[in-house]
Amino acid sequence: MSVRVRFAPSPTGHLHVGGARTAIFNWLFAKHHGGTFIIRVEDTDQARSTRESEAMVLDDLRWLGLQWDEGPDAGGPHAPYRQSERVDTYNTVTRELMARGIAYRCFCSEEELEAKRKLAEAEGRPPHYDLKCFRLSAQEVSAKLAMWTPCALRFHVPDDGDVTIDDMIRGEVTWRKESLGDFILVRSDGLPTYNFCVVVDDHDMEISHVIRAEEHLTNTHRQVLIYRAMDWDIPRFAHVSLILGADRTKLSKRHGATSVSQYAEDGFLPDAMVNYLTLLGWSSGEAREIFDRAYAIEHFSLDRVNSAPAVFDPQKFDWLNGQYIHAMEASALRPLVAKFFDAPWLEEGIDVVKTSVTRLTQFRDALAFVTSYEPPAIERAFAEALANELRTNGTPVDADGVKAMNERLKNATGLKGKNLFMPLRLALTGLDHGPELVRAIPLLQHASECDQSVLSPLARVETLLR
Ligand code: GLU
Repeated sequence: MSVRVRFAPSPTGHLHVGGARTAIFNWLFAKHHGGTFIIRVEDTDQARSTRESEAMVLDDLRWLGLQWDEGPDAGGPHAPYRQSERVDTYNTVTRELMARGIAYRCFCSEEELEAKRKLAEAEGRPPHYDLKCFRLSAQEVSAKLAMWTPCALRFHVPDDGDVTIDDMIRGEVTWRKESLGDFILVRSDGLPTYNFCVVVDDHDMEISHVIRAEEHLTNTHRQVLIYRAMDWDIPRFAHVSLILGADRTKLSKRHGATSVSQYAEDGFLPDAMVNYLTLLGWSSGEAREIFDRAYAIEHFSLDRVNSAPAVFDPQKFDWLNGQYIHAMEASALRPLVAKFFDAPWLEEGIDVVKTSVTRLTQFRDALAFVTSYEPPAIERAFAEALANELRTNGTPVDADGVKAMNERLKNATGLKGKNLFMPLRLALTGLDHGPELVRAIPLLQHASECDQSVLSPLARVETLLR
């Protein structure tokens, strides 16, 4: 059997961390098995779904680098991939379920249903539908239809309505028929429900494995009954556990950024995000936390996905992102950093400070010693000795040159070690911290040569002598 999996976002906002991880697990599973990864847009909630949101979600998935094989933009053999465009397909299945005597019209009004629910609650019974419309005769139905009485379509739960699935993450899960009343397939306004569309689409799109969030586990009972009623093959299910914040409540805005695009804006790398989210609930079994996509694809399996909730740790993600930045060549980082901050000397600047940052957004601050200069309080004698050195021997342009300069300054000033480097750093950068001087000084010199807005080391010292 070929592996076909789908990520099915509802386009009602940005892609969130939890959705991103579900998408990543689907993608890894597909890639591991040489299968097909599909995007299906679940936009039947017309009040909340927008095309803008769909575009944002697809952009976020692209940013993560999760290439899909079939989808609303890519097309494919089972197009369309947007539920709002698949109504004909749902109608066909609706007619079939009615012909099979499984779906029936329900004319009960919302008020009537609400009253019945309240009564059931008061009497301590489960709030299941009381089957009133299931028992209507053909004549009664015709009469109501002739009067244009609005109606929904309900699914009749059969006597053998117990369901057991073998969830690939959670193991065996069983539901009893009694826990379910006859449920709605199509609302009275004509809109099919999520549980109905999802089954029709997963069948139609030949989905082999449904990998999705744990919150949909309870829906699986209804969905399996629909498969059975249609004599369709039932896919394998895998319900991925929740992501929690450090306080072990469901991850939400209170815990900080939760959307993928926010992390992109905050200077995180897609590779680091895919790595970190993959680690949230999955491990290869090897003690390895930093791995590339090829490694994750090779080792991914659902039986190594933890059924317990995973805790999102912002510090760890930050650390991991730093590891990715530190390992990257400055030339590769340059275009990414340039989205936040640009300069003609950026690549050299990145190379000098990259080990001091964990996010792309931090390069601006880390390189502020180049772009701005606040003259510090320095002993005049030291400033004079330094100016003299730079005028006589020129500003060093590499590490060896800086070392030679330091040697001469030591002789000229009688200072050494920290007592020499501190005033030197202060005089040239205006700051008491920063990258090694053997790298910082050549950077300042090169930057001033190609960027008029950067003061050269000599110009900096000269401002101290004014
Ligand atoms: N559209 C659903 C959601 O965004 C996904 C449903 C599913 O994967 O079955 O939560």
